[in-house]
Amino acid sequence: MRDEKLLEALTQIWGVSGYEKDVRKFIEKEVKPYADEMWTDAVGNLIVLKKGTQGPGSRKIMYCAHTDQIGFMVKNIEENGLIRICNMGWNWAGSAYNERVIFRNGTVGVVGCYGPIEEAKNQIEKLFVDIGSSGREETMKLVKLGDCCTYEGKYVHLASGKLCSVALDDRLGCYQLIEALKENPGTYPNDCYYCFVVQEEVGTRGSKVAAQQILPDIGIAVDITPAHDYPNDLTGSNKIGGGIGIKICDPSVIADEMVVSVMEKLCAEKSIPYQREVIDRGGTDASSMNLTGAGARTGGICVTTRYPHSQSCVVDAGDIEAGIDLMNAFSACDFRTEEDNL
Ligand SMILES: [Zn+2]
Repeated sequence: MRDEKLLEALTQIWGVSGYEKDVRKFIEKEVKPYADEMWTDAVGNLIVLKKGTQGPGSRKIMYCAHTDQIGFMVKNIEENGLIRICNMGWNWAGSAYNERVIFRNGTVGVVGCYGPIEEAKNQIEKLFVDIGSSGREETMKLVKLGDCCTYEGKYVHLASGKLCSVALDDRLGCYQLIEALKENPGTYPNDCYYCFVVQEEVGTRGSKVAAQQILPDIGIAVDITPAHDYPNDLTGSNKIGGGIGIKICDPSVIADEMVVSVMEKLCAEKSIPYQREVIDRGGTDASSMNLTGAGARTGGICVTTRYPHSQSCVVDAGDIEAGIDLMNAFSACDFRTEEDNL
């Protein structure tokens, strides 16, 4: 991998939706030497522009990766000191059960269930967090109403070049954007906006605001997508290690035909392994960019992930790197020719 230490560091920063500041500050330091312009907006999006040569075939390309991760928010503290929680993003009760969670101030707790977990189905209101305290007062010294917690999950290597960590959704996208920016020579025709956006997990909120500032011609979501090649409750064709996913469709967006055809052509020309990506559940920031201003041609660069939205997301290192290669090739494209061809 180009810089595995950077990816690992990104996954280990605490940043539940709405509270992504530490992630943003870390990224700011990384990207600053490479940016032509950069700014942070009122909601906390970090937008980094690397200018292109702006010839007749050049376009404004917006790449979007989200800085937030799923978690839980404290909604009540019981007399006995246990903490009732609600969702920040989409969580599986089953993967939360008996797991460790960590609050922003470092307080650690374990997730338990009122009754058998099998009967909780996916009702997060059946879960609680136990920080080991003996009562409400003691808990409230460490945790306030409205505080958030998220999973702990070390970054480790699995067999066959696979990686496992918490928050790979979507810190791997942040990593891909940072690396692509570093490799952008400034001689591409297109203005490239590398956007590190907030609150994707609670309804693609940051990207809506970022897209309105940029009004991109082309918007690309750089994110994970669920795998279908292991026993689970989703069906489809996404394979881990099967190359970078080129988004065709998800319930929130239909990728633009020109964007898809250019991406496929570039992968073939440059021997970048890829797969066409279709999912029938979920969505990405692509939807925000698609419907901004007078509309934007939209697509997605997706890394297939097993156990998504858990403390143990599993991805293939080669898929991540292929995504960076594809972004670079895409950024270098003359879209005048490509649009004329369709
Ligand atoms: Zn995501």
